[in-house]
Amino acid sequence: MFNYFSVHWMFCVVCVGLLFDENLLDTIKYGIKCNYLNCLWLSLECEIEMLVTNKELMVNARKGGYGVGAFNVQNLESVKAIVEAAVEEKSPAILQITPSVIKYAGMGYITSIVKNAGDEVAVPLAMHLDHGEDYETAIKCVDAGFTSVMIDGSFLSFEENIAVSKRVVDYAHAKGVSVEAELGKLAGVEERSVEEKDAILTDPNTAVEFVEKTGIDTLAVAIGTSHGAYKFKSAAKLDLDRLKLINEKVSIPLVLHGSSSVPAWICEKATKYGATLDGAKGVAEDQLQQAIKLGIAKINIDTDLRLAFTATVREVLTNSTKEFDPRKILGPAKDAMKEVAKGKMRLFGSSGKA
Ligand SMILES: [Zn+2]
Repeated sequence: MFNYFSVHWMFCVVCVGLLFDENLLDTIKYGIKCNYLNCLWLSLECEIEMLVTNKELMVNARKGGYGVGAFNVQNLESVKAIVEAAVEEKSPAILQITPSVIKYAGMGYITSIVKNAGDEVAVPLAMHLDHGEDYETAIKCVDAGFTSVMIDGSFLSFEENIAVSKRVVDYAHAKGVSVEAELGKLAGVEERSVEEKDAILTDPNTAVEFVEKTGIDTLAVAIGTSHGAYKFKSAAKLDLDRLKLINEKVSIPLVLHGSSSVPAWICEKATKYGATLDGAKGVAEDQLQQAIKLGIAKINIDTDLRLAFTATVREVLTNSTKEFDPRKILGPAKDAMKEVAKGKMRLFGSSGKA
């Protein structure tokens, strides 16, 4: 609770009052600064940290029976797309950043954009490290102001995965940051490429041991999804029986990676303007909704956003051959991304939950 206030809270009667009122605290935390409440100490405005943790969003989601979209962002346009979607849908949202995005955009640039979004809007947002590849990367992100980090030790042995996840938990929890770890191995291309034959589904019994020994807040499970736009060669089916078992045994909220649906309409639009996406196939929307009923509280979406963005860039460049203003090219692409994100929020049931 104290994370949300600067030292000023000690002098501010509204904030001191808030410490005894959890409901009002939530309202304040999500966007109304105390000087709007006729605070007697206007000159000592409370500084309220607007970004929240994944744990907080996901525990609420699980209680409410909905899922929170975790959307990958790379730049100004993608952050604005997700934040505008969250505001218009009155939905919580997780903005997630991979190590390769940190390399691409720079830690200071990308985190500043997300933090600024958190300060500007009145819906709860989290800034999450997606696929933190080692301890050093995870703690660097904790120190840079991420409210949640993933330590992905899924490529390590079970014991090594426990050890590195536990180390990250010890560091992150001391700073009020929540931790996601992964058990099992998803196929596909993300920070690391994993061949389909090397994918391993999560075992429910070892999941219990993993959660107990690491102290993580949320667990990413492998139940048949994969990273990228080519998820299934034949029938697209998730192992929901396995998910049900994991959910019965594990008490923390669960995470589903690689959950894009690769909608036909986006692929058709991209193809119409020159993309080659033969065989692209994602997770059916009704399977995602069933997974949410079985304990999935965070659904990772990257591919669908990329497809929507790129299809629109292609469309603009094809239709407006005289256009060379980047804003006129990237603006419509950002809007297309926003519409996809809004659709996900409605699908996952998080609309209206902020
Ligand atoms: Zn992932």
